[in-house]
Amino acid sequence: MRRKNNTKSKIIIISNRLPVTVSKRKGTLKVQQSPGGLATGLQAIRKEKEAIFIGWPGYWPVNNKEKRFIENNLIYHHQCYPVFIPPTEINKYYYGFANRTLWPLFHYFSTYCAFEKSEWETYKKVNQRFFQKVIKLAGPEDIFWIHDYHLMLLPSLIREAFPQSSVGFFLHIPFPSSEVFRILPWRKEVLEGLLGADLLGFHAYEYVRHFLSSVLRLLGYEHEFGAIQVGNRTVKAESFPMGVDFQQVEELLEKPSIKNEIDKLKDEMWADKKKIILSVDRLDYTKGIPQRLKGIELFLEKNPKWHNRFTYIMLCVPSRTKVNYYSLLKEEVDSLVGRINGRFGRLGWVPIYYIYRFLPFEKLMPLYSVADVALITPLRDGMNLVAKEFVACKKDNRGVLVLSETAGAAAELGEALLVNVNNREDMADALLQALEMSEEEQVRGMEFMRKRLFENDVFQWARSFIEEIKEVKKMQAHCEHRKLNEEWGKRLICDFKKSKNRLLLLDYDGTLISFTKKPEQAKPDVELIRILLSLANNPGNTLVIVSGRDRKTLEQWLGEVPCGLLAEHGAWIRRSPDHEWEKHKGLSGEWKEQLKPILKNYEIRVPGSLVEEKEYGIAWHYRNANPELSQLKSSELFDYLIEFLANTDLQVMHGNKVIEVRVFGIDKGNGLMPWLSKNKWDFILAVGDDWTDEDVFKVLPSTAYSIKVGYGQSQARFYLESPKATRNLLVELTKIQK
Ligand code: UDP
Repeated sequence: MRRKNNTKSKIIIISNRLPVTVSKRKGTLKVQQSPGGLATGLQAIRKEKEAIFIGWPGYWPVNNKEKRFIENNLIYHHQCYPVFIPPTEINKYYYGFANRTLWPLFHYFSTYCAFEKSEWETYKKVNQRFFQKVIKLAGPEDIFWIHDYHLMLLPSLIREAFPQSSVGFFLHIPFPSSEVFRILPWRKEVLEGLLGADLLGFHAYEYVRHFLSSVLRLLGYEHEFGAIQVGNRTVKAESFPMGVDFQQVEELLEKPSIKNEIDKLKDEMWADKKKIILSVDRLDYTKGIPQRLKGIELFLEKNPKWHNRFTYIMLCVPSRTKVNYYSLLKEEVDSLVGRINGRFGRLGWVPIYYIYRFLPFEKLMPLYSVADVALITPLRDGMNLVAKEFVACKKDNRGVLVLSETAGAAAELGEALLVNVNNREDMADALLQALEMSEEEQVRGMEFMRKRLFENDVFQWARSFIEEIKEVKKMQAHCEHRKLNEEWGKRLICDFKKSKNRLLLLDYDGTLISFTKKPEQAKPDVELIRILLSLANNPGNTLVIVSGRDRKTLEQWLGEVPCGLLAEHGAWIRRSPDHEWEKHKGLSGEWKEQLKPILKNYEIRVPGSLVEEKEYGIAWHYRNANPELSQLKSSELFDYLIEFLANTDLQVMHGNKVIEVRVFGIDKGNGLMPWLSKNKWDFILAVGDDWTDEDVFKVLPSTAYSIKVGYGQSQARFYLESPKATRNLLVELTKIQK
């Protein structure tokens, strides 16, 4: 069972439920396909990739003999490695935290949520149980694909054990708006748990957006095109809408037993020329079943001509019956069905044919095939595979899908009749429209939807997710490769020693000193002054501090260091303490008066932000403001200024938590020309952390040691983690006094 010595990487799929469930009836153990959309997806991955599954089998063995029997059966027949969870833990973890807290919260039913500390503690414990199983079976070379909301802490547990491993996580339910997510008392722990993954997948772009905004608001990590920098790792969040096994559906439709079943159903149901309306759901409050029934009731009230002309087959699968809200829902649905059938039924006709049980997929297919209308109207649904399966079964392109706009599937099935399930009128009208839709119109809509589902089937979903994990790993490797490691550090010091004319270009904020709450608090400390003095006094060195700050501050803070100074990103330079400050040619600061009120306005609207006025530039800093608000406002201001200043000689720059306007042509690279144009340097070192330092890196010869402080994209050849690491390097250089 242990396969740690196997160096070939394997895909390890980890989910709460295995694709199969174990149960015991009348003393006999049974293994059946697990219900629900996730299980359907897992079955498909199994066909596509060589994978093993780790998960809960849904059963707690009575003794060790039974445990071993189940293990052997699941491993050898299903490649499934069970994680046995005692019933007391299942109550708190599965029925508790997962389904009484996360499930309602993520589906916007916040009033249904329980926030029980002991359930959260058990959730953590069970995530640990899964982790223990994972490390027994897997090694760092494997690809881990974790599924769904039950295991949101597992990615970071795996990351800690195998820092270099490839970890993907897919959420099969919606990720709610950050306003809703933040209600969760353990919100940060959950996000940190998820960020252990390299790739986070969601069914819809909307959920990605909500996730990124929660990460920003609660953890303060920004993102660039869905890539979040978490320490030295890039983590990506992307949308991968899950599809269905289209080919399997096509094949099954040709199977004689299913064909017979379809013919039989047609004979029974179509004999009296009634239209068939179908719905298939787990009995869950997110599926909007009472709302749908009320819509049907209204339809019957408004359309007597349709009485006795349709049958609505409502298939509900029992689900989470141990959770209070589910049993209440069952009572409500039973009573509504009774009321409607009692009110509108007559001898020989009941409008609603209610089935309360699970049917295997092969039994569902004939229902999908014969149904004229599918009513798929959840209040919220991560994706909803039933909607897609119905379309996939419509080989003759006939049939109408009525679909909630709040189901993830609606993003791909725009030709369906999209409804707001809370609006009874809307539901009743859509049903009428569906029943009366011309064949031509049905075919037109179905053709488009079927083509899309055919191209984006479940295999494509699994393939693209796994491929993307590999892409993220490549991105990370590229970044890791650039780290100024011990070997490169030694080479740098060796080159430094060998050279005689060295140019050292050091940015100040974020490079030599960490960011502070207010810009004026970033004064140099004694250690920093000592380092700079030592570097500047070495006769072989020419030291230049390359800053965006104004010249007065630089002179006050660094006046005692015999070095060159570049202020306001190159608007001013002072070649050495013996020289006067020189102004960039053709500079005027009159334009600032016009821009100041605009930036001041943002200072008022975004608490914590501030405007800094320089002689030849003006900047709006938002480091200390609410991250989400400031991200929104900074993009707004940036776009506005770009437009507003078009056709002027001013340029707008979006730096590290700052937007700055200055005269075009002034940048650190240009400002350094008086030094760089001297052709005497046999060693150049440039260190900077910001977007504005990229202008320096760009103009350096390829042999120069350019170093970015912090991770992320850069023109620099190397990177260092922090100002602390920069200082350590500089201290090493101060030891060479020639
Ligand atoms: N399903 C099934 N038998 C049933 C009812 C449903 O096999 O009696 C399957 C259905 O084919 C679909 C899945 O269960 O693949 C339901 O997935 P969906 O995304 O629609 O809803 P979920 O249950 O995951 O919320």
